[in-house]
Amino acid sequence: MSNHYEVLGVARDATGEEIKKAYRKLARQYHPDVYQGEDAEEKFKDVSHAYEVLSDPQKRRVYDTTGNENGTDSGFGAGFSGQGFAFQDIFESFFGGQGGQGQGPIPRKQRGQDALIGVRIELREAVFGVNKKIEVDTAVLCETCHGSCCREGTTEQTCDICHGSGQVQRPVRSILGQVMTVASCVTCQGHGTVIPEPCNECMGEGRVRSRRSLTIKVPAGVDTGTRIQLAAQGEAGPAGGPAGDLYVEMRVNRDTLFSRERDDLQASVNVPMTAAALGTELTIETFDGPQQLNVKPGTQSGEVLTLRGLGVTHLRGQGRGDLKVELNVETPTRVDAAQEELLKQLAALRGEQFTEGKLTASGGVFAKLRDKLGGH
Ligand code: ZN
Repeated sequence: MSNHYEVLGVARDATGEEIKKAYRKLARQYHPDVYQGEDAEEKFKDVSHAYEVLSDPQKRRVYDTTGNENGTDSGFGAGFSGQGFAFQDIFESFFGGQGGQGQGPIPRKQRGQDALIGVRIELREAVFGVNKKIEVDTAVLCETCHGSCCREGTTEQTCDICHGSGQVQRPVRSILGQVMTVASCVTCQGHGTVIPEPCNECMGEGRVRSRRSLTIKVPAGVDTGTRIQLAAQGEAGPAGGPAGDLYVEMRVNRDTLFSRERDDLQASVNVPMTAAALGTELTIETFDGPQQLNVKPGTQSGEVLTLRGLGVTHLRGQGRGDLKVELNVETPTRVDAAQEELLKQLAALRGEQFTEGKLTASGGVFAKLRDKLGGH
């Protein structure tokens, strides 16, 4: 990139007046009305930037000393704000930035925004799916004017100020003399039309806020965070514009008995120590009704029985996850004298060294521990 003095075509010791003169000349030269090259915008930027630096004594000093702007380069267009003319406006009017040429009036009728609401359901409802009635609060089409925004018998009128273009030209004083910039018409907010007598119901918006009930079909398998999209049930657009979509985000309540791991359900049931040792049939309540669990003799605490296909329905695809039941073997916390006597007899029959309430660590106890640690 060539240096700022070369860009402006001035000597290193050029006076402020010479720099200003050179800039004026070049800015006119590269004005898009005059200069037809593809690089008009680039050239204009370079020239303007060089001028921005060299016209400011402090920035120029830094540039002369360091060869760069050294932190003073706060971006194109910066540094002009304090000098009494709106540089960005000029630039945009030249090169068609926002509010520039070639932009017609902004239509009043626009698509409405999407809306998002949260809905709580029970775990059972997530397992099987449910039809849920929800209350939605969104903008809806104004029934009084049907989106025309006008009081009955009146119509919108072409804006007197911009004559329907939605834009007005505004003179701005600049270093190039007076230039015209294009801005959105304030009178009609750029619509090109005004509403002389707005509808009383919607105040000329064409839509009103309303609360309504909707019944949504929640498919089986949804989880917390799953979003259901309902087309065109969001916010109605202004002036009869189509509605955005409604997103319903699911939140699944915690269940007291079952927890969820992906599409599997988990539960834990207590089994008395004696039943775990002897084996038993156990009936548990599930979302699919009562189920029989076969607790085999010698069941250990922490063993898991799997009931296939009794979990959550897969949201995509077919089938269901499993229900996993963890067996929690309960050791009695309090025993009466008779029970204690029986347990002592049992211990003796099993060869457990039980003297005065203390168990002597025999080889068997240590072997168990080794097994648990994974050693054999
Ligand atoms: Zn209305």
